[in-house]
Amino acid sequence: MNLNKNYKNLEQSYLFSTIAKKVNEYISNNPDKKIIRLGIGDVTRPLCKAVTDAMHKAVDEMGAQETFRGYGPEQGYDFLRNAIKEYYAKNNVKLELEEVFISDGAKSDLGNILDLFDKDNVVLVPDPVYPVYVDTNIMNGRKVVFANANQENNFLPMPNEEKVDIIYLCSPNNPTGAVYTKEQLKKWVDYANRNNAIILFDSAYECFVSDSELPRSIFEIEDAKKCAIEFCSLSKTAGFTGTRCGYTIVPTELGKLNKMWLRRQTTKFNGVPYIVQRGAEAVFTEEGMKEISENLNYYKENAKIISKTMNDCGIWFVGGKHSPYIWLKCPNNMSSWEFFDYLLEKAQIVGTPGAGFGRNGEGYFRLTSFGSRENTIEAMNRFKSLFNN
Ligand code: PLP
Repeated sequence: MNLNKNYKNLEQSYLFSTIAKKVNEYISNNPDKKIIRLGIGDVTRPLCKAVTDAMHKAVDEMGAQETFRGYGPEQGYDFLRNAIKEYYAKNNVKLELEEVFISDGAKSDLGNILDLFDKDNVVLVPDPVYPVYVDTNIMNGRKVVFANANQENNFLPMPNEEKVDIIYLCSPNNPTGAVYTKEQLKKWVDYANRNNAIILFDSAYECFVSDSELPRSIFEIEDAKKCAIEFCSLSKTAGFTGTRCGYTIVPTELGKLNKMWLRRQTTKFNGVPYIVQRGAEAVFTEEGMKEISENLNYYKENAKIISKTMNDCGIWFVGGKHSPYIWLKCPNNMSSWEFFDYLLEKAQIVGTPGAGFGRNGEGYFRLTSFGSRENTIEAMNRFKSLFNN
């Protein structure tokens, strides 16, 4: 028996363990100080009533002989696939039912999709980046090259002439909160079609886009169905981080890939629980949409408070407008970890050092709007007292 040697090439991620260690140390030395956590990428508001009502009803169905269901279709129940199809139609994206696959979240499918691609493909990943894209490819032994995201390009790298095969794009972006325009995405789509490349488009934060001119789906771009797969999630949209449900769109225009993905899913996946899919379906009802938008507006208002503070303090940042993330340049040329220590020590605010997301993250810092209103306001008052002079 031989082990997968590629695992040796994975870089250990010390980001969140180091944060936890530093925070715990600080708390034990300063037990009377109140820490405010603006580093988390997890939602904090509960599932909305439309969702929990639908799930309760589904639980009752599962407990009655006449309505009990066993194994469901691996690619998801049609009631949910249809709801997603209609959701896309509202953004003028026409999907066929067979293009919609229900997943247990975007993370799993972002990793699983690599089953469909040969090891020899060259993978392009933006830096800084959501670490899953890099690690899943390293596990498979693929070569990864990076597209530099930086202040000059507003953390939105564009294609150059280098030939790559698999391209990851995430918009609105984690960790930077930057959002591509339709014109910018069109350039990526044209590049991919010219080079016979595939774009793996992560739209996990699409629900934060509040300007109809900005794309929520790559399929709003002409010819994207010839070169892109889209991964989305109800995690941030509707608080499903613990409940687990997402969806992946694999266009039939991609030829074999749609059938290959169906084959892969029916072989290795047994679907998302019926109860969860009924809850997910409720997200897309009128009531569900109204209720989730209350939660999204709550986070968006927090993001506004953070963004205003950065402006008041003269600190450069991106994100915060169509994203829960604010990506800021560390003041006084501090490194990411210096700034982390400084904020913890002086203001008891915990954020995420940008250096943990890639080389280009050094010198930057991520704050999130997923905290409570009260804590966000208090944290920003503390922040202002340090930098607004
Ligand atoms: N994609 C991005 C960019 C994320 O930031 C996250 C979670 O933080 C995910 C995907 C994972 O989503 P899910 O909870 O649906 O697996």
